[in-house]
Amino acid sequence: MSSGTILLIEDETEIAELLSLYFEKEGFRLIHAVDGEAGLRRLEERSPRVVLLDIGLPGIDGMEVCRRIRSASDVPVIMLTARDSEIDKVVGLEIGADDYVTKPFSPRELVARVKAVLRRSEERPTKPQVLEVGGFSVDSGRREVTTPAKTVVRPTAREFDLLWYLVEHAGLVLSRSQLLEAVWGYDYFGETRTVDVHVRQLRKKLPDIPLETVWGVGYRIGG
Ligand code: CA
Repeated sequence: MSSGTILLIEDETEIAELLSLYFEKEGFRLIHAVDGEAGLRRLEERSPRVVLLDIGLPGIDGMEVCRRIRSASDVPVIMLTARDSEIDKVVGLEIGADDYVTKPFSPRELVARVKAVLRRSEERPTKPQVLEVGGFSVDSGRREVTTPAKTVVRPTAREFDLLWYLVEHAGLVLSRSQLLEAVWGYDYFGETRTVDVHVRQLRKKLPDIPLETVWGVGYRIGG
């Protein structure tokens, strides 16, 4: 049984060959495009379940490819970054990627991330709900937040998932690894910084939301 099609947009064919072995073993079918233009075409023709997107591509770079994907599709995108310093850029520019891995990565880890992303996209709450925290209403159906001044803010997909998890557990202190596990769906040592980066983005967009840092532990909202 096929687990679905994965689109890899990556100019290094060695990576593509290696990944295609791993993904096929797991029941996926990997299709490969060597640049952004070809990738965008493949996306339209083949409707993959997940896109793996390299940042450093010839022609249109990965950031721009991600933006273009987002303007047309909700398909989960995992960015392949060459340097740690690119992570802040990926998150900070809000290009709408769902996850990222830093090269060199293990194919096994990437497969795990793909499965986690697929699990998450299937687990999105079916019954939309609105929860209140400190005068902010958080709407899981529209995936937006209304501030006390009635401004509507739309966080990125991942920021929203993080916020929603915090709000559903309002008043509780949640550790970074708990949040990583719940929102990102894996527990990857050394990447709890991801949580901090997303919290920073949320605070920037929702400056008065009662999202506190509990030193040495993690984060808490409201309560
Ligand atoms: Ca590259």
